[in-house]
Amino acid sequence: MEFRDLKRQYQYLKSEMDMALQEVIENTNFIHGRQVAELEKQLAEYVGTKHCIACANGTDALQLALMTWNIGQGDAVFVPDFTFFSSGEVVSAVGAVPVFVDVDPDTCNIDMDSLEHMIEKTIEKGALTPKAIIAVDLFGQPADYVKIKKIAEKYQLLILEDAAQGFGGKIGEEKACSFGSIATTSFFPAKPLGCYGDGGAIFTNNDEWADLLKSYRIHGKGSSKYDNIRIGMNSRLDTLQAAVLLAKFPVFAEKELIWEQEIAARYTELLKGIVKTPVVKESFYSSWAQYTIQLPDKNHRDGLQEYLKKQGIPSAVYYQKPMHRQRAFDNCFYDDDDYPVTNRLSEIVLSLPFHPYMKEEEIRLVAGAVGRYMGR
Ligand SMILES: *Cc1c(COP(=O)(O)O)cnc(C)c1O
Repeated sequence: MEFRDLKRQYQYLKSEMDMALQEVIENTNFIHGRQVAELEKQLAEYVGTKHCIACANGTDALQLALMTWNIGQGDAVFVPDFTFFSSGEVVSAVGAVPVFVDVDPDTCNIDMDSLEHMIEKTIEKGALTPKAIIAVDLFGQPADYVKIKKIAEKYQLLILEDAAQGFGGKIGEEKACSFGSIATTSFFPAKPLGCYGDGGAIFTNNDEWADLLKSYRIHGKGSSKYDNIRIGMNSRLDTLQAAVLLAKFPVFAEKELIWEQEIAARYTELLKGIVKTPVVKESFYSSWAQYTIQLPDKNHRDGLQEYLKKQGIPSAVYYQKPMHRQRAFDNCFYDDDDYPVTNRLSEIVLSLPFHPYMKEEEIRLVAGAVGRYMGR
């Protein structure tokens, strides 16, 4: 069994995919092919934002957003403590300081009380200027943007939505990647909408920021690539990756997302009362980047992972280490007591095999093994 079976997805899409790739190879327009602009148009329409700017990966997408807002030395950016390294890494990369925030034990997304507490604490210390909140749509479920927006308004902060795992999610009828003043996503192969390598995109309604983002992603270009008016990056999306995404996108939007709802519901039905299953809030819709259960303690978590492995069932721990305990941030001085939920989650979470092409027997096999290990 595979954790996320991309081979099965390729088999399902093979004829369209092979044709799409062949077209790029024959045209040899590997950079700036028409597929890149076409993809940007389709994704912006789907998400409901005015602009979509494709780039090289989800990490660059976040960094480009921070550069556009001119965030740097002396600035504080609030980031959930329970996320992939990139969400905090980019803050340090532009010279600002990531102030980590604890998360909600049910959704694993940024916690409002902790957010306000950390903002107040930062203001009180007085060394940094609070500038932005990076809210992460973890495991596919959007963060609670209604509440985040209230806090952002109160403290005059910008919202950067890190939807690397959230593309395809919704709150009501509003789609992920439309909630932040700027939002970003990743097309890393294992993400909800993945390409065949690295890729990313940035979404915004703001024309001025869109122009800046387009400049920063190509060496700070002015009128052309050879007229450089600011220090930028080289962060384009390849035509081949755009072609892969165009071939996948209709199937993702019309089929895969629906299959994933069914698979998640099936897992939850079979695992009910055995382990803590993922909580998706009322009127929220997850794109199921991961199906993550919680065990009673670290012994059970590690034991279950070992037990599954012996039966050929892969699983993964997202995430092993809270951000504030990563050595890369040693110089930022965090108080471990500010993060009780993340500290606990990192010991008890386990993500199970999950992808839209999973079969009923596979779901049963995994859930059955979890049940046996837990003595049910
Ligand atoms: C994957 C991921 C990223 C980074 O995306 P890349 O395309 O791998 O650079 C950023 N944030 C989160 C939450 C992610 O899961």
